[in-house]
Amino acid sequence: MGKNRFELVIFDCDGVLVDSEPILNRIFAETLTEAGFPITYAEVTQKFIGKSLKTCLEIIETSYNKPLPKNFVELCKEREIAPLQQELKPVPGISEVLEQITLPKCVASNSSHRHIQMVLKLTELLHQFDGNLYSANDVSRPKPFPDVYLYAAEQMNENPEDCVVIEDSVPGVQAASAAGMTVFGYAQHSDVSRQAAARLRTALFDAGAKIVFNDMRQLAQML
Ligand SMILES: [Mg+2]
Repeated sequence: MGKNRFELVIFDCDGVLVDSEPILNRIFAETLTEAGFPITYAEVTQKFIGKSLKTCLEIIETSYNKPLPKNFVELCKEREIAPLQQELKPVPGISEVLEQITLPKCVASNSSHRHIQMVLKLTELLHQFDGNLYSANDVSRPKPFPDVYLYAAEQMNENPEDCVVIEDSVPGVQAASAAGMTVFGYAQHSDVSRQAAARLRTALFDAGAKIVFNDMRQLAQML
């Protein structure tokens, strides 16, 4: 110890930097309901917490025993834009933490460059990353595969074992673990029941998180 353990901090975007999950879950529930797959916001947060979008869509198709519309995902993405522009907030404490961190930092997300740029601009976090934004669209496979994390480390000239990743989802933790990086799981509990929060903690540990924390203000001390 004594010296810094890490050379690079890699942040997931949605749910770690910006509080987009409640908005995205609401739009997901509304779009599903209108497409003939009725579901409430509460059910979406309870059932799908910690699961990948692909898994969620499979569960829905299985439980209703019919396929989703072909353009369903694009439809959600289109409908997300206006509410994100009106309601999106940074994750509590993240602005201060990003100011405090002296290590190099970057973003690695499953979302498109367009989405990453938009949400970071809306929350005034974009300037913290010096253009070091990496999207799963830059690589062949999205999280839970390690590609986007390995790509980010390579672009930043760091070895995976010197990187620490901040992630809020199970597929994201799996991706960073598979890349050979240390993962800190962020589990914000404001929006879910205690049971769901406990399940998510367990799921993040099972996926390979070394630490699970729920207050972003703690992060600077953990590095
Ligand atoms: Mg996330």
